[in-house]
Amino acid sequence: MAVKRVFFFGGGKAEGNGAMKDVLGGKGAGLAEMTSLGVPVPPGFTIGTGACALYYGNRGKLPQDLKSEIATNLSKLERTIGRKLGDPKNPLLVSVRSGAKFSMPGMMDTVLNLGLNDKTVEGLAKKSRNPRFAYDSYCRFLMMFSDVVLDLPRGAFERIIAEKKRERGIASDVDLAAEDLMSVCGAFKALVKERTKKEFPQDARIQLELARDAVFRSWNNDRAKYYRKTNGIPDDTGTAVNVQAMVFGNMGDGCATTGAREQYGEYLVNAQGEDVVAGTRTPRPIRDMKKEFPKVFDQLMRITAKLEKHFRDVQDFEFTVENNTLYMLQTRNGKRTAAAAVKISVDMVKEKLITKEEALFRLEPRQIDQLLHPVIDPKAKLDVIAKGLPASPGAATGAAVFHADKAVEWATEGKDVILVRKETSPDDIHGMDVARGILTAKGGMTSHAAVVARQIGKTCVAGCDTIDVDETTNRFMAGGKVVREGDFISLNGTTGEVILGKAPLIAPAMTGAFAVFMSWADAVRRLKVRANADTQRDARVARNFGAEGIGLCRTEHMFFAEDRIPIMQEMILARTLEDREAALSKLLPMQRDDFKGLYREMKGYPVTIRLLDPPLHEFLPKREELMVEVTKLQLIHADRSIIEEKKRLLERVEELHEFNPMLGLRGCRLGIYYPEITRMQVRAIFEAACDVTRDGIRVHPEVMIPLVSMVGEMRVQKEIVVAVAEETMRRHKRKFPYTVGTMIELPRAAMTADEIATEAEFFSFGTNDLTQTAFGFSRDDSGKFIQHYMKENILEADVFATLDQGGVGQLIRLGLEKGRSTRPTLKVGICGEHAGDPKSVEFCHAIGLDYVSCSPYLVPIARLAAAQAVLREKKTGKAGKK
Ligand code: ADP
Ligand code: MG
Ligand code: MG
Repeated sequence: MAVKRVFFFGGGKAEGNGAMKDVLGGKGAGLAEMTSLGVPVPPGFTIGTGACALYYGNRGKLPQDLKSEIATNLSKLERTIGRKLGDPKNPLLVSVRSGAKFSMPGMMDTVLNLGLNDKTVEGLAKKSRNPRFAYDSYCRFLMMFSDVVLDLPRGAFERIIAEKKRERGIASDVDLAAEDLMSVCGAFKALVKERTKKEFPQDARIQLELARDAVFRSWNNDRAKYYRKTNGIPDDTGTAVNVQAMVFGNMGDGCATTGAREQYGEYLVNAQGEDVVAGTRTPRPIRDMKKEFPKVFDQLMRITAKLEKHFRDVQDFEFTVENNTLYMLQTRNGKRTAAAAVKISVDMVKEKLITKEEALFRLEPRQIDQLLHPVIDPKAKLDVIAKGLPASPGAATGAAVFHADKAVEWATEGKDVILVRKETSPDDIHGMDVARGILTAKGGMTSHAAVVARQIGKTCVAGCDTIDVDETTNRFMAGGKVVREGDFISLNGTTGEVILGKAPLIAPAMTGAFAVFMSWADAVRRLKVRANADTQRDARVARNFGAEGIGLCRTEHMFFAEDRIPIMQEMILARTLEDREAALSKLLPMQRDDFKGLYREMKGYPVTIRLLDPPLHEFLPKREELMVEVTKLQLIHADRSIIEEKKRLLERVEELHEFNPMLGLRGCRLGIYYPEITRMQVRAIFEAACDVTRDGIRVHPEVMIPLVSMVGEMRVQKEIVVAVAEETMRRHKRKFPYTVGTMIELPRAAMTADEIATEAEFFSFGTNDLTQTAFGFSRDDSGKFIQHYMKENILEADVFATLDQGGVGQLIRLGLEKGRSTRPTLKVGICGEHAGDPKSVEFCHAIGLDYVSCSPYLVPIARLAAAQAVLREKKTGKAGKK
């Protein structure tokens, strides 16, 4: 037989199991595992992800042997249940459910109640003695199938229902009678015929084929693609298709449906599938079920406890109660906030359910970002205008917007926005992604808005039913106040409060379970983590987040301050050495103070200070602006001396003009051309160090020469550094360790690293420039074509965010090896943006770097990524360097 592609589950046995997520998808694997464990699951079969690849590889056609494998499994399902698909007397109804290896909640499609047509609906009505239920199911099916398979949006269908309710004078769908639903079904079919010019497909087998293919296609709908891209899920794994016998929560009041347990548990009576998540009716908390269906409730608690123990993780469940019988429909590792993930895993370690090492994998390094979000200052006076459900914690403030597209538009302009909707749907995902927070009027703790917000780490207040949202006039009413588009509001996702205006936010504390968790990461990792910081404030944040030193202080940032830039310009414009030194001597005390602040915060941890790097024009006014200014001054006959001064400035700017400033007089070339700049900076570095050592603070300055490509450059700069450093220490009668090293950011530096290491005592790979110079991509101009390259599959990821291991990574590896070959004690790290990217951190660990240095807010991410790198290496048995 060919490869097995379809896997049956039912009657306590399953052909697949929980470990087969690759093949069965997460949902299929969960259904198989639950079935084998004896949990009540409606029977069915999973068409594996391999079939999805065949579907795409074969222009939408499935091979014959696969089709017959599916047919065999369908017959088996029919035998197990004792009903047949399309049988007018005793019809089998199925759901056709998507489900990929990685959970993508609500992004792909599912069709419920498949198998209904004009004949089987009558059979179902007779058999169940419940015509209302039968036509309710048919309505749902017609609408869902049309939406998913025929691509007819739901809006038109919903309008028909709304019209019917108006006609009958009722408020809730539940109050529609069988006859009403029957006529709605008729209207639905007429609508389909009008829009598609074809009858709604009546043949149940054809329905099944069409739905199966639509589920395959939903792998590549826009929102699924977007979701994969933003969540780093690969595009080639495909979805499985689960065909499963339907059970019904909509047969009357003895039926409840779906929900997770305890924390966020919710259910709805007399409902089906997506009613709970869609946010159209507000569900009830699960504890109410205890009173309403005590037996079923107990059974549910037993099953969920058993499954959580079995899967060794908190689970999200879906279930349906059909006539007081419980069925489990889905189980998956809980979607939860980073804070909950940390708390739960720390607790589980205490209870000895998992090890510390396992705990460290319960959090994606990127998720830590959520824990570093600010909270509302508890001391602030707030104008609370409404209160909803605390659906996803944190705090956010921003301008209210009412549509996802608008959110994107404003966010791109750099505005903070809060997306306000009656309820969200998967089509809003791009808006949710860019918003600071999300506010919905409808839906519960398991509504779409709430689940997605928790997963992407956005603050969310859901089900805030005291606000009245009008999405056509773009405003909402709350507590007698009107909030219009653009008005500022704030959300507290921990309490559910909606606040008028901008609430003051403060930084979070690194305490409790999180501190414990991070201490485990620190105990495991080998890579050191430092921060890129230029100010005392950044340095303090960095230490608070656990940075073990500063890996990059960009001294030029200190010159851009308003009170310094005129002196800096004076220095640049100076025509003689004397004038230049005069200006530099004014800058010296300022630099010295900056460095003292850094040393004070770092208390003996190394501080790497890079000498002046950018091209000088960055400090000067733009040539074109100056030209306009001079012309204007001439037109208004301004004072001659003012005009002359501007003209001189313009002249000098023109002299300094370069065609390619990034490849011009910058980096170490500056310090070689104007050694007095290097002398001033080194003096400031060492005088500051001498000063703070008098207060008993230990220091370890590391002076870094930028943009070296030849050992000669390194040699002449190092000579100056050492001379000034020694002279300064002697003058101040202080002595402390210091080192002189270089930034490796040019391919030639990596190629000749063995020579450079004869002078340099440390290397720091500047991966931003190294990526720039290796690819010949300008970082400031590449946004456009890199996106295009990713679409065309020329590039897998943005090389300025995730290190290009195949090229730039090889330069690093080579530079490291060559450098250590001449100087075995060479300390080596990286200091580009990549240092906060988990995959890149793993690479840095694998090749044997000593440290990574990233922006302060990424430090905890890098700490966890570095720990996971060690544990993964252990698991795969690849000890030591690659
Ligand atoms: P998603 O991946 O978007 O959660 P699902 O495939 O889980 O989609 O299905 C959507 C909804 O339909 C869920 O609430 C689920 O519980 C319900 N559902 C799926 N299959 C069945 C079934 N065989 N019987 C009853 N309800 C079902
Ligand atoms: Mg589901
Ligand atoms: Mg650089």
